Amino acid sequence: MGLDARVYCDCIQRGHIKTPHPFPELLFLDEDGCPNIRSDDLERQVLHDTWQWKDACTHQNCTAIHHRIGNISHISHIRRTIQELQLLTRFEYTIVLQKILFSGSHAGDRITIDLLTALEQEIQKLRTNTHLIHDSDTRKALAYFTEQVQELVRASWDTGNPIIF
Ligand SMILES: [Zn+2]
Repeated sequence: MGLDARVYCDCIQRGHIKTPHPFPELLFLDEDGCPNIRSDDLERQVLHDTWQWKDACTHQNCTAIHHRIGNISHISHIRRTIQELQLLTRFEYTIVLQKILFSGSHAGDRITIDLLTALEQEIQKLRTNTHLIHDSDTRKALAYFTEQVQELVRASWDTGNPIIF
């Protein structure tokens, strides 16, 4: 249990494919940018999954970036820290708190491209304010968190795919 975030790569959109798909006529990209097939046939699903995992492109599982954000207690620690900074600095970290840290184990949701600019602003603001935290371990944890989110944002800009949890 914990929180993981990823951004799928855009190799298929760009035609950077290593091995042809076993059923190219069934292949499509879902709203996360994740390759999928229009078929419920189990055997085809398995072949597709194998292709996606290792044969589609140079990325494993067509994933441009994957970050383990942390386990449940780590997430709640980061959340409390940012809530304290919010009170101290009167700046609201809406996307960070409501879309990323609202739970230590959410999955199946996403941050869409239209929110990236605002998210980047929040991350910049967090970086500016990290020095206000007294505990050095917490400061390090927050610095690492902002670094991870910044990398996810960058990958999302680069690929045009959302950040997904
Ligand atoms: Zn790729």
